[in-house]
Amino acid sequence: MSNPAPRPDDQGEKAVPDGGGRGFLGKLGARMAAPRPETAPGIQTREALLLLQNYEESGQGWFWSTDADGRLTYITQYVAEQMGRTATALLGASFSDLFLPVDSHGERQRTLPFLLTKQSKFDELPLRCAFEGDQRWWAVSGRPHFDGGGRFTGYRGSGIDITAQRRSAEDASRLAMYDSLTGLANRFNISKKLDTTLAAFAQQQRSCAIMLLDLDRFKQVNDTLGHPAGDALLKQVAERLLKIVGDKEMVSRLGGDEFQIILPDIEDRGKLGDMASDIINSLSQPYSVEGSRCIIGASVGVAISPFDGDNSDNLVRNADLALYAAKGNGRGRFSFYSSDLHQSAEDRRALEGDLRDALARGEMALSYQPIVNAKTNTVTGMEALVRWTHPERGPISPALFIPIAEEANLIWALGEWVLRKATEDAAAWPGEMRVAVNVSPIQFANAELPKIVTHALAASGLPPAQLELEITESVFLGDSAETSHMFKALKGLGVRLALDDFGTGYSSLGYLQSAPFDKIKIDQSFVRGATEAGSRNGAIIAAIVALAEALEMETTAEGIESLDQLDLIRKLNVSHVQGYVYSKPVSNDELLRHAESGNWTIKPTGPARQRTDRFHMFRKVGAIHDNHRYAVVMRNLSATGAFIEGIMDVPLGTQFVIDFGEGQLVTGTVRRSKQHQQGIEFETSMVSDGNGGLCTRHRVSPYLIAAAAQHSGGLSLPMFTTTSDWTGK
Ligand code: C2E
Ligand code: MG
Ligand code: MG
Repeated sequence: MSNPAPRPDDQGEKAVPDGGGRGFLGKLGARMAAPRPETAPGIQTREALLLLQNYEESGQGWFWSTDADGRLTYITQYVAEQMGRTATALLGASFSDLFLPVDSHGERQRTLPFLLTKQSKFDELPLRCAFEGDQRWWAVSGRPHFDGGGRFTGYRGSGIDITAQRRSAEDASRLAMYDSLTGLANRFNISKKLDTTLAAFAQQQRSCAIMLLDLDRFKQVNDTLGHPAGDALLKQVAERLLKIVGDKEMVSRLGGDEFQIILPDIEDRGKLGDMASDIINSLSQPYSVEGSRCIIGASVGVAISPFDGDNSDNLVRNADLALYAAKGNGRGRFSFYSSDLHQSAEDRRALEGDLRDALARGEMALSYQPIVNAKTNTVTGMEALVRWTHPERGPISPALFIPIAEEANLIWALGEWVLRKATEDAAAWPGEMRVAVNVSPIQFANAELPKIVTHALAASGLPPAQLELEITESVFLGDSAETSHMFKALKGLGVRLALDDFGTGYSSLGYLQSAPFDKIKIDQSFVRGATEAGSRNGAIIAAIVALAEALEMETTAEGIESLDQLDLIRKLNVSHVQGYVYSKPVSNDELLRHAESGNWTIKPTGPARQRTDRFHMFRKVGAIHDNHRYAVVMRNLSATGAFIEGIMDVPLGTQFVIDFGEGQLVTGTVRRSKQHQQGIEFETSMVSDGNGGLCTRHRVSPYLIAAAAQHSGGLSLPMFTTTSDWTGK
């Protein structure tokens, strides 16, 4: 042994090499072994010491002792070494300084210093090494010792290494609490957290939002690129989420491609909407997975406690409903929970059923929207847009039913019908107008697509060069071998390819160079953004146009409604325009009437500039003035104001609180007033509800409503006449 532990009673003694062992027991044993008349108890003691020495050397346990002040008088050498010290160096050190307390999962742990000062005995106290390095844990036991006079003389004790047990217990609890793939909290963990948070917050009258998140088209990644790719993608999704949310403990993966985020103390729907958009944008950027580039999207449902539920079950159920609505509205969106979503969820399920029979019942039709050369105003082609007229509900937007068709495996039949009908119609058009047909990414991923296109072309007699297929960039358009095969096969047929909805977050400029598109369609939202002050979209559009020209591609700006947008688009050299400024989609008959001569030119008409979005509607709301609530009808609504009907002759400058229901109150001032109609300007702007509608940033908390109900003095008499009083006169 290199460093015999010096003890007062063995000062100057030399350890015997073979009995040297690793501690004083070894040396004591050696001393005992000196030639002396041996007695039976002597042999016994010697045997005991040797056994103890062997035990120490085996590393299964160790010993320690202190003086009355808690200073080490002995410690087994190998433990000292595990602490990165030597036994000699540790002698005289305070025993309790060697350890950190180990958190013992909720049980209150008596601390070592406390036990030592109390001179209590202790058994298997879990302790962690206080020194840096390879972390070790021990279960330490100790007994106080007293001299003949009953005076405390110090401790003697032992310890065993419990590092392995600790580690496996920690691993097990990590497994039980965290998702092994992404390292995020798992479903069990987050739901416990939500339960405790909501319970505590209800007492403190605080609010808490949750977001449920589901990846769009993740299943296709798994199916086409394989599960390891899917796993790699999920990890990257988790990293992107953490970057935005910040608090690691509040983000969880519930399983599959579903995530949940807890956001304590946020009820501002403006902020939550911004955050949801950030998340969607970030997750929609391309991923590089095992060498392939792939693109997915995300939808988000948001519910806020206490407004949308006061316990975790309700809140999660309602966030789920909001998520379902966000998906139903075309994906890549967020949606706030509101009580009318229960109805729309049912509607959607019903629609899915009706959609199955819609084709057979002849409810589908095509309309055609002109695509116009921006310089000459001549129509160069048409985009075929599918229309569904539901027998009871009337026209239903493709933005609503196409995703349903994709999910319910109906997109194939529908897509084939559109292709056949569009090529058949286009073959009869005068001149050489092209027809553009939208192809769902799901159709694009099916190896049968070229065959179907060939059949449609053959049956209609339409020259292939007059057919353009519009595809949105998606997971299928990654750099995979299947994608390049499909591109080759389609180009081999002689048809043209257009990249649809460029600028919606799915597409990237670099990608254009490798994909054989003949045209890029710049999305409506991107063009609209370009006319806003401070927007960089204009510069990006200019870059797209330059790149497209270099690659000999055409460009089309979609959704141009106003003359100022058209002006901008022309200045940016976009070659084609599609939008209401030229024409809304028209029926095939109407198209034939216009295009009869084989040459169709349209003069652009529309508003001079894009107005702030106004929603025309007929919605019953409350208008509160001077403690009286009037029932009025809202005729239109923008973020900054509304037009209401129902109260007579209200003076300008009158203040109203508009009650939209569900705690949504907005204060506003009457700026225009004519008999029964008032234009009201809001004090604070409303915010997007993620589905093209508006909602208030804040809501009146149920806590406040409960408190107010206790002090309410009732409503006062009306100051104004209403139209219902008036018509009664
Ligand atoms: P898209 O391919 O980007 O089609 C353009 C959409 O913008 C059409 O909406 C069109 O009516 C609309 N639009 C055009 N100009 C304006 C304008 O100036 N202002 C406004 N506000 N809107 C304008 P639509 O017909 O509702 O179609 C929506 C989407 O549904 C299409 O977007 C396309 O992705 C999908 N879709 C439509 N028909 C089909 C189809 O036959 N097959 C597939 N797979 N998808 C289709
Ligand atoms: Mg399109
Ligand atoms: Mg588009």
